[in-house]
Amino acid sequence: MITDNQKIIILTAPSGAGKTTIKTQLLKALPERLSFSVSATTRKIREGEKDGVDYHYMSLNDFKTQIDASSFVEWEMVYPGMYYGTTVNEMKRIWNEGKIPLLDIDVQGALNVKKQFGEQVLTIFIEPPSLEVLKERLTKRGTDSTENIKTRIDKAEEELGYKKEFDLLIMNDDLQKATNETIRAVLTFI
Ligand code: 5GP
Repeated sequence: MITDNQKIIILTAPSGAGKTTIKTQLLKALPERLSFSVSATTRKIREGEKDGVDYHYMSLNDFKTQIDASSFVEWEMVYPGMYYGTTVNEMKRIWNEGKIPLLDIDVQGALNVKKQFGEQVLTIFIEPPSLEVLKERLTKRGTDSTENIKTRIDKAEEELGYKKEFDLLIMNDDLQKATNETIRAVLTFI
């Protein structure tokens, strides 16, 4: 059962805004309190990723079956043809361990969860200094094709339009500063 004292923390940022580093540092700083919520996705596994650790990778058919079975707290087609979703079971698993789920999900997913759980949720938006810097970081990362980078930049532009709807806005012009700020805010919330 989901009760009204169970908390949720959501980190949202355009792809390449430094969210992964902040997420890793946050989990490292508070290992007894937080646990990463592993989403389901239909996107292909990337080199270096592990099934069940980074995502639960599944076929589109399986994903649709899970939608029909109401297995998701929220789900979105984040990129054309690529589905991502947070399962009820994953949240329950973490709460049952006495921990707080840390969700790394997109803007629409974050606002959707906020709408359902209200004050139980802290939504954090990590803001990149500029779209140019974002593009530079994505290109340097080298995990995405030029076409993919363009899709991600377009999405980032759209996502930035929703930043005011978040509980907390963190500007990532300095990764260490942004990380510390995030940890402090999470500590206050929990
Ligand atoms: P990536 O493909 O780079 O791992 O993730 C792409 C985007 O999908 C990121 O913005 C990430 O936050 C978002 N995402 C990951 N899991 C979920 C989820 O369960 N739900 C939603 N709505 N977005 C997700």
